[in-house]
Amino acid sequence: MAAATSAPRRLSLKRKYAMLTRGLGWETTYQPMDKVYPFDRFEGIVIHDWDGWEDPFRLTVDAYWKYQAEKERKLYAVMDSVAQNNGQLGITDARYLNAVKLFLTGVTPLEYAAHRGFAHAGRHLRGVGARIAAQMQSLDELRHAQTQIHTLSHYNKYFDGLHDFAHMHDRVWYLSVPKSFFDDALTAGPFEFVTAISFSFEYVLTNLLFVPFMSGAAFNGDMATVTFGFSAQSDESRHMTLGLEVVKFMLEQDPANVPIVQRWLDKWFWRGYRLLSLVSAMMDYMLPKRVMSWAEAWEMYFEESGGALFADLERYGIRPPKHHDVAKKEKSRLSHEVWTILYNYTHAAAFHTWVPSDDEMQWLSSKYPDTFDRLYRPRYRMWREAAARGERFYNDALPQLCNVCQIPMAFTEPDDPTKIAFRESIWRGERFHFCSDGCKDIFDDEPEKMSQSWLPVHQIFQGNCGGASIEDVLRYYHLNIGADNLDYEGSPEQELWDAWTADRRTAR
Ligand code: FE
Ligand code: ZN
Repeated sequence: MAAATSAPRRLSLKRKYAMLTRGLGWETTYQPMDKVYPFDRFEGIVIHDWDGWEDPFRLTVDAYWKYQAEKERKLYAVMDSVAQNNGQLGITDARYLNAVKLFLTGVTPLEYAAHRGFAHAGRHLRGVGARIAAQMQSLDELRHAQTQIHTLSHYNKYFDGLHDFAHMHDRVWYLSVPKSFFDDALTAGPFEFVTAISFSFEYVLTNLLFVPFMSGAAFNGDMATVTFGFSAQSDESRHMTLGLEVVKFMLEQDPANVPIVQRWLDKWFWRGYRLLSLVSAMMDYMLPKRVMSWAEAWEMYFEESGGALFADLERYGIRPPKHHDVAKKEKSRLSHEVWTILYNYTHAAAFHTWVPSDDEMQWLSSKYPDTFDRLYRPRYRMWREAAARGERFYNDALPQLCNVCQIPMAFTEPDDPTKIAFRESIWRGERFHFCSDGCKDIFDDEPEKMSQSWLPVHQIFQGNCGGASIEDVLRYYHLNIGADNLDYEGSPEQELWDAWTADRRTAR
């Protein structure tokens, strides 16, 4: 009977969100705030007023569960249908799956690492608006890891190299590239972590990962991947907003924050860009049906959108990240240099590589008129001839790795694509090697941290990776030798795919 007067009125979303954030936070009294939040000051970021934090999404927890549950229902329905209708037969070509293998072993574990990182940031940022945003992102990232594992496990029934992704992520040489990227972020302070992941990676660079990967999946008939991609992409807009918000917030709070933020933007732009070089090889070489070239994607998503973003940040005293001009110079070489590395070391990798077909070389030459025919086609011709003689080239020498990005040192000088770029620094009497000025700058800025890199090649030489022979190391990686590795030509996967295709031809 009192309902009309005493029952709480339905709150507006804005009000609900305010209750959830400001309403649930408090200043501690039994312990000083600095003891409860020990990590959010040592980086030097000064915050005067956490209430200046604006979260444009204002998502409440009940709304969050409702949206996510709806997405899960749709995703798992598609996954069932992919399994029941033999979705693996719908892809363009089994070579496509090698991009999926890179994704599951290289990217999915980063989703899980992001889950851990945002949980940590959510605990250690003392502003309650930022904490809520970080906690929700932490849940999103756990969901991304789970949905990717569930979706891609379908392919594990038929194809090689997908059977032990978590183990591989922690050990295999090329996976140390993504792993070390995230380890660096996870071991930074909470503000650097959020700047690195939410801003530099998700806001500035994520389109270069997700758009080509998901359109690549769509073009190549991989409906399973397209579905988890869209399901994750809808969280992504929230994450990107968090990234931009945290950077603007720091810049607005105190002028002393500007140089710190700039240094992080420089560092994480370069680390993210080097990480994405794996994506460049995927786009230009691994997709049987191409979406666009790496150079085109770089122009569209970094030079144009990134250019506009950094023009906008100029009023805070922020300039475009250092060495972005180098990335621009490298755009017509990056994918070819990376594919060359992967081709050289496919005997030690859990995916296949190949020399591009004539049609594919035609495409490459049309997308890279200044570089492909002159610099890369002759090399592929040589490798193809060697393979035809039964001498497919595998490089048995372990490469020098860049101490920062951990990629074998095969990138070339910004102004000379025929000369390997090589930089070094001496620190506490030891010599460290780098692929670029970008990586050297990162080391020189934090030598205590970066000198501790777990470098796969050094670890092999130190005897920490199962033994002295390549076979010992591959066993330590849990590679299924002779199936997961080596050229696509002659692989069990190719045999299986060809048999399926022949069956379908006779059935028709
Ligand atoms: Fe994610
Ligand atoms: Zn490097």
